[in-house]
Amino acid sequence: MIYLSHQQLQQIQGHAEMTYPEECCGLLLGTLERDNKWVIEVRETENSWTSESNQNLPDLPSSNQQPLSKKNRFSIDPYILLQVQKEVRDRCLNIIGIYHSHPDHPAIPSPFDREIAWLYYSYIIISLRQGEFTEIRSWKLEENNHFQEEIIKTVA
Ligand SMILES: [Zn+2]
Repeated sequence: MIYLSHQQLQQIQGHAEMTYPEECCGLLLGTLERDNKWVIEVRETENSWTSESNQNLPDLPSSNQQPLSKKNRFSIDPYILLQVQKEVRDRCLNIIGIYHSHPDHPAIPSPFDREIAWLYYSYIIISLRQGEFTEIRSWKLEENNHFQEEIIKTVA
């Protein structure tokens, strides 16, 4: 279960709508206890994907055969990630997950998403159709390398 406030969900939605038709991405900062995660802060980051990103990965086709671009790929600058990691440690929080958007695609992880996913993180995916929000879902990579859906619970 992952707990987000209505306001945090709105923030993710706003970010996704603003960057449409490109993918947006960001970090989920919060606390975790066993299978429960509480989001304290949604940190928007730049989608820093370039054709040089993830060159060490196998050449996965995009799900709709579109050329690779920020419309179907995202990347978070490792330097930003490191900075936020330091910052949250000082605040006794953790990076508990990553969110990104799927413009004109369902909110389910792509093969690329699985390739770059880390264990125990929550992956929130927000789907938009023609710029309009359709659904938001959360996924967690299990040790068998499969994504398991995680329930999003909205709190006040
Ligand atoms: Zn994705």
